Amino acid sequence: MDSCRSASCDVREAVRAKALSIGFDACGFACAEPVEQWAVEQYDRWIAARHNDCMEYAARYRDVRNDPRLLLDGAKTIICVAANYLPAKRQPAYAPQFALYAYGRDYHEVLKERLLLLASFIAKTTGCQSRPCVDTAPLRERYWARKAGIGFIGRNNALILPGRGSFFFLGELVTTLEVKPDEPYSLTCGDCHRCEAACPGGALHDGTALDARQCLSCQLIERRGDLPQWVAAAVGNRVYGCDTCQLVCPHNRNTMPTTISDFAPSEEFLSLTHEDIACMTPAKFRRLFAHSAVRRTRLDGLRRNAALL
Ligand code: SF4
Ligand code: SF4
Repeated sequence: MDSCRSASCDVREAVRAKALSIGFDACGFACAEPVEQWAVEQYDRWIAARHNDCMEYAARYRDVRNDPRLLLDGAKTIICVAANYLPAKRQPAYAPQFALYAYGRDYHEVLKERLLLLASFIAKTTGCQSRPCVDTAPLRERYWARKAGIGFIGRNNALILPGRGSFFFLGELVTTLEVKPDEPYSLTCGDCHRCEAACPGGALHDGTALDARQCLSCQLIERRGDLPQWVAAAVGNRVYGCDTCQLVCPHNRNTMPTTISDFAPSEEFLSLTHEDIACMTPAKFRRLFAHSAVRRTRLDGLRRNAALL
């Protein structure tokens, strides 16, 4: 469709403005094209070294991962968005700790709803088709977010939005809309290595991607069955995930809490104790976490983690 080709900068800025009005904190545009060779090789080395550990899905769909045009016929652009999830209220320090991203409603649901609104706006104004992705397709979201000028990838493997930190969910629209892409971010961590030094599992090594075999977050959330022995000594009072490599990052010093009410925790969640988790029934788990990322670890995984504390 002609209107989908080479849309003007006005169209691009209208889409960006719409994304911000929907509640996203950042929106950028990258050309839908094959992933650069250096990045393909970096990912292949990560898989070959088995650093994806129990995340077997990370090794699947290599063809799509390396060419996002396979996700949508006629794809021309990847629109990348970021949404702040930093909660204003936190669990008390003595409580069994959940990663901050899991405090509120499941980001898959929240971001997808908003991406569908953006896709609808694009369809109405340009006639172009879009496919929303929120961890739901083999798309290298941090790679594309950097290409789209939203931020840079830190040594902690998180996407860092300079001045705003890394407590952001990422989402994408793969779209047939063709617009001029944004400039990729070129900032780096420089001489800082704080996250590597602070990581309780030793999962971060300069110049390589995260080693999931040594990452508490991956082990507590992704692993089924028994945990590796080292986890018990490193887990502290974490019960779901780990935020240490983000909390120590200087880019997160002056972060602002989210304004998205969906990401606010309930009082019941904030007051959870060790005993509550140890004695949690399936019915209570469903009620508390039916619309939460926490359901990924399932009740038996949560109880297994709590038993370490
Ligand atoms: S989430 Fe925790 S364990 Fe994993 S890399 Fe970051 S600091 Fe290390
Ligand atoms: S703590 Fe330092 S090295 Fe780690 S991501 Fe932040 S800036 Fe980069």
